[in-house]
Amino acid sequence: MRFLVSNDDGVQSPGLEALAEALARLGEVTVVAPDSERSAFSSALTLDRPLRPVRQPNGFWAVNGTPADCVHLALNGFLDFEPDIVVSGINAGANLGDDTLYSGTVAAAMEGRFLGKTGIAVSLAGAHGKGYGIDAYRAAAQMVVRLIQSWPRLNLPARTILNVNVPDIPLADIRGFQVSRLGHRQRAKDVLALEDPRGRKVYWIGISGNPADAGEGTDFHAVNASCVSVTPLLTDLTRHDALQDVSRWLQDV
Ligand code: MN
Repeated sequence: MRFLVSNDDGVQSPGLEALAEALARLGEVTVVAPDSERSAFSSALTLDRPLRPVRQPNGFWAVNGTPADCVHLALNGFLDFEPDIVVSGINAGANLGDDTLYSGTVAAAMEGRFLGKTGIAVSLAGAHGKGYGIDAYRAAAQMVVRLIQSWPRLNLPARTILNVNVPDIPLADIRGFQVSRLGHRQRAKDVLALEDPRGRKVYWIGISGNPADAGEGTDFHAVNASCVSVTPLLTDLTRHDALQDVSRWLQDV
């Protein structure tokens, strides 16, 4: 199996290293990742300047762009072969519910949707901001290995990826895999208003909201129950059950 590995925490992040190291036991790994952190860049592509991949001493490619740039580049001319699957992560912090809309980790996997069996986005639910090293990601990497080992038996519709969140607990305490749907968060916390050195008002985007729908069946619930949450995601944002109402409404517009 040929893996394309990327992330949004940057080419030097320990989660990326742990993932690449684990997947190397299962096949050929090529890493193309942003040269610095690009968390919350979603599917942004860089269109106003060229992208230049720079080979790192460990063989990883660092790109002056976004997670989506990295995978887009890799699949559309930079690599001279077609990988079988894109695996993104392991992100420092959860990507649950509404987070998936902003996540560069999820977007990197999404960018692989034109491949036969697309991709997996992997996040470690709990480590964000704690400054952990590679050891913190080894249990999650091990769970990814198990998913990949069973990969041939999975039937996945076209343009679908798996969003995987691994609870940040020791491997022995993880209580297996659980399929889930996305939960929902409340509105984000307020922005943090400050004054810059020149007396101008500036703002930091606040932290994400608390879970609003974290009930049984959701990704939040699975992770809270010490399970690896696995949510199939698709790129089609159509609200199918609203088509009739909108159609009826349009007749009188
Ligand atoms: Mn990130």
